[in-house]
Amino acid sequence: MVIGAGVVGLATARALARAGAAVTLIEAADVLPAAGSSRGDARIRVLAAYPDDEYLELGLRAAERWRELERESGAALLRATGALSYGEGIGELTAALRRFDVPHEELGAGELARRFPAVAPPGSGPVVHQPDGAVIAADRVLEALLASARRAGVEVRERERVVAVEEGGAGAVVETERGRLEADRVAIAAGPWAPALVPWPDLAARLRPSRQVVSYFGWDGPPPPAVIEYGQPDPYAAWSPVHGLKAADHQPGPDADPDDRRAEVDRARVEATAA
Ligand SMILES: Cc1cc2nc3c(=O)[nH]c(=O)nc-3n(C[C@H](O)[C@H](O)[C@H](O)COP(=O)(O)OP(=O)(O)OC[C@H]3O[C@@H](n4cnc5c(N)ncnc54)[C@H](O)[C@@H]3O)c2cc1C
Repeated sequence: MVIGAGVVGLATARALARAGAAVTLIEAADVLPAAGSSRGDARIRVLAAYPDDEYLELGLRAAERWRELERESGAALLRATGALSYGEGIGELTAALRRFDVPHEELGAGELARRFPAVAPPGSGPVVHQPDGAVIAADRVLEALLASARRAGVEVRERERVVAVEEGGAGAVVETERGRLEADRVAIAAGPWAPALVPWPDLAARLRPSRQVVSYFGWDGPPPPAVIEYGQPDPYAAWSPVHGLKAADHQPGPDADPDDRRAEVDRARVEATAA
């Protein structure tokens, strides 16, 4: 059983069903439009976002899975824009890219200005260009995963909130608003709602949902590369097919309740991102 039908829950349920398991996927809201973090028109996808071998290996395996999902759905899920990264630890990132033979180039200031005139990093360190960096059409991915999961035999139960998960029965007992279910195993993929469901208090206490502020800006030119700057506050920007440019900081925001939908925007954060 999988709880939560964001990108993680859908991908998990689909993979388990394709491996032969009988899978029930329970979602508190509608799967589409998504209620959680997975919604939207743009996510950055780079093979190496972190100088970590395990992460890079997963990225390489995921690259093949992305192609497979695009073939299966017939939908364009990734738009290659390239990605530029610079800042703290960029040497380690480049070393990891070399170790795994991942296509990339190191750009000096002159070449950067010539090829990507809109990007002016602070400082004079190297800038790494990963040509296969892409923008993920996040909403379309959810649609593709949902259809594929259903084809693989996943039973999808929407608008059914899980209220508790406990060890017991055949493995786990899952209580929903509609009744009690048993499963051999349960994957909790409830995103920022997970702390309320994880049955181990020590772990639940370590999960802290935070509110992220994302800003959108107009952009008239052709899709620019994603830009990732390492070092506080870790700003990033990417092409947004709907709005133009999407930008934010890759830092936890203030603690938040995911059910609190008040549209309070932290203006200082927006102004910092714009700057
Ligand atoms: C601002 C922002 C920018 C990001 N940018 C990037 C990026 O550029 N590149 C990238 O790779 N990643 C990015 N991410 C991360 C990525 O979007 C998330 O890691 C991913 O969407 C998390 O998916 P999820 O399925 O774990 O959670 P969610 O999408 O939040 O899904 C959780 C689901 O669980 C359901 N649920 C909750 N409680 C219950 C319950 N009790 N019973 C049943 N169902 C329940 C919810 O309704 C929801 O549908 C970004 C995230 C944010 C917030």
